[in-house]
Amino acid sequence: MPTDPQSSNIITRRSCLQWGAFGAAAAPLLSFGAGSAVAAAPAERQRTLRFAHLTDIHVKPEQGAGDGLAQCLHHVQSHKDPVELIVTGGDAVFDAFGATHQRSQQLANLLNTVFKQDCSLPVQHCLGNHDGRGWDDSEFAGKAWALEMYGLAKPYHTFEQGGWKFIVLDSVRPFEKRYTSGLDAEQRAWLETELEQTPKTTPIVVVSHIPIISVTPFSFDHEAVTEDYQRVPGGLLHLDGTALHTLFKKHGNVKLCLSGHMHLNDRCDVDGITYICDGAVCGDWWNGDPRRSDEGYGLIDLYSDGTFEHAYLPFDWKVRA
Ligand SMILES: [Zn+2]
Repeated sequence: MPTDPQSSNIITRRSCLQWGAFGAAAAPLLSFGAGSAVAAAPAERQRTLRFAHLTDIHVKPEQGAGDGLAQCLHHVQSHKDPVELIVTGGDAVFDAFGATHQRSQQLANLLNTVFKQDCSLPVQHCLGNHDGRGWDDSEFAGKAWALEMYGLAKPYHTFEQGGWKFIVLDSVRPFEKRYTSGLDAEQRAWLETELEQTPKTTPIVVVSHIPIISVTPFSFDHEAVTEDYQRVPGGLLHLDGTALHTLFKKHGNVKLCLSGHMHLNDRCDVDGITYICDGAVCGDWWNGDPRRSDEGYGLIDLYSDGTFEHAYLPFDWKVRA
């Protein structure tokens, strides 16, 4: 795990065992990168990047959520061993999708004001289902809102830092008046090209808002059980999660997939790829229900040998009415 003394305080105030059926919940609090057991000799294993993953901020004027985001950003920037980058995981506002234009503008202004005032680190954003405005005009209009708020040119993008490649996906697909998950044909083709063009020696982090693989839906969704199936809706897990996992496996250098959306923590290690659902900055939408994650964020160290270390760090937010 990250070695910063502050980072060692990773036991959440809410016991993970409260999710009794959710045995993997304890894992993300102390997660070691896939392959770390066979990592290169220490002298060859260099940390190349420390970043924070802030998903599901859901900032709004109520309940001091803006102060909560600021407190989280200060926590991120207070490590003695400094964080170099923030990656958001989608749903930074609550909620533009069904809100009026005026309310959406208020949320976007609050988000950008807090980041401007309280964050001196570079930030890379990922889109979530609450960030775009409804599909009433067109899909483009809905996502165009989120792109402008985040200062992004496209809803999915890549960047490289610390010798790793980050592939930031757009999980959200319009479905009737609401949304489902997965990549459309254009994004899927783009992803395949990106993977093909990335040297096998370059490890990859994939960031998506909705989890690609996660056990979290099975911990609460009793209505998903039919006579002989347990169905997982596309609103909870990527509909194309199996296809994406198969693609990642084929390319071999996707090491870590980070997501949010569920406001729960889990970690799934499958075929040498680690999928982490990384809680929520807002915890239970700033309401403090202990059945959801603590208000916190993921701290991730990336290494030159393609391994990583991860911890989920609460920032000790006190819920406000
Ligand atoms: Zn979401």
